[in-house]
Amino acid sequence: MNKYGIGTKAVQAGYRPGNGEPRQIPIIQSTTFKYESSEEMGKLFDLEASGYFYTRLQNPTNDYVAAKIAALEGGKAAMLTSSGQAANFFALFNICECGSHIVASSSIYGGTFNLLSVTMKKMGISVSFVSPDCSEEELAAAFRENTRAVFGETIANPALTVLDIEKFARAAHAHAVPLVVDNTFPTPIHCRPIEWGADIVTHSTTKYMDGHGASLGGVIVDGGSFNWTAHAEKFPGLCTPDESYHGITYAEKFGREGAFITKCTAQLMRDFGSMQSPQNAFLLNLGLESLHVRMPRHAENGQAVAEFLSVQPEVESVSYPGLPSDPYHSLAEKYMPRGGCGVVSFCLRGGRAAAAKFMDSLQLAAIETHVADARTCCLNPAGTTHRQLTEKQLQEAGIPAGLIRYSCGLEDKEDLIADLRQALAALS
Ligand SMILES: *Cc1c(COP(=O)(O)O)cnc(C)c1O
Repeated sequence: MNKYGIGTKAVQAGYRPGNGEPRQIPIIQSTTFKYESSEEMGKLFDLEASGYFYTRLQNPTNDYVAAKIAALEGGKAAMLTSSGQAANFFALFNICECGSHIVASSSIYGGTFNLLSVTMKKMGISVSFVSPDCSEEELAAAFRENTRAVFGETIANPALTVLDIEKFARAAHAHAVPLVVDNTFPTPIHCRPIEWGADIVTHSTTKYMDGHGASLGGVIVDGGSFNWTAHAEKFPGLCTPDESYHGITYAEKFGREGAFITKCTAQLMRDFGSMQSPQNAFLLNLGLESLHVRMPRHAENGQAVAEFLSVQPEVESVSYPGLPSDPYHSLAEKYMPRGGCGVVSFCLRGGRAAAAKFMDSLQLAAIETHVADARTCCLNPAGTTHRQLTEKQLQEAGIPAGLIRYSCGLEDKEDLIADLRQALAALS
């Protein structure tokens, strides 16, 4: 599949039916799998043979879809998870343990901020947040002797800051740890972080990849290039024997390309069980088949809406990396020359009250805790997804109280703009 373009991969990668087999990815709706002998089954439990035995760990439908996403991202191995939250937790917990430290961009999704700063902290994993705009020196100063990973979002939800992937990758690698990038917003159609030095890529597939607001899911993709054994003392989970599998060492047995995802499946899926259902994986694949057709339309609508809002007197500020006046425009041009996503953030004059009145007046855009699907929707993050953040944390994350996150769907841009125009008029 490697010789093909990204659109061909979106349609066909991951599953090739044999003679007389189903053309569409089959939904293997089975919790378990049958074997002829106990010995054969035993080999699976020892990770001596590959195969399926229980859907909590692996399922063929999921594996077809994960393989497609690995191909899209230019990665070597991938696994689906039940949600984006599970993907980010697993990607980090597969490397970190009690006593580890993570360096993360402060401009990230509220759920991930909470995961890192509250829940993982309870597990003894600490985090230092840095501004995505920090200098190389400031970034280097955030590392500690126990740092095990660096984390950021390509385009942050909802602040729409753009991560300088090369800067973060350089810092991570100078400290011998991997860079994990959440690539949910641009998707591999518009940015492939592995090509810029990221080691592991995650997604909430709930967003553009599914694209229809139909199924929750996540994915972890390993670029397969991080050399775990060269820094074995930092990564005991990958580089020392796992007694629960008769003492195999993942980095030795599965090599650079297989160690990360195999360990994540064999240990974390086994123990936490956050598997995506095969039904949802099937729906996710339907979304992936048109991802390369939908993303340019989302970005086109985002650009048109951002340009319209940026010249309206009721609008105090607009964040959209596609606007030449946006502070992240040059990074967006570098990492996403063909466009970013359909999400536009803007701040109305008049704060919370104006935001509420405006959103209540919109007719096409629905008020939803969602982004990135076919139907336009909007949200006031400070009142919903980022409710748990203090004023100071909101400021650090670049989220003023009156901010509106407006996610352009696939409708006609003229209709979206007319809807915005009448809702703005309702403010005066
Ligand atoms: C939505 C989102 C998540 C969480 O994903 P869920 O599928 O809702 O669990 C993580 N990261 C980003 C960037 C998101 O937009």
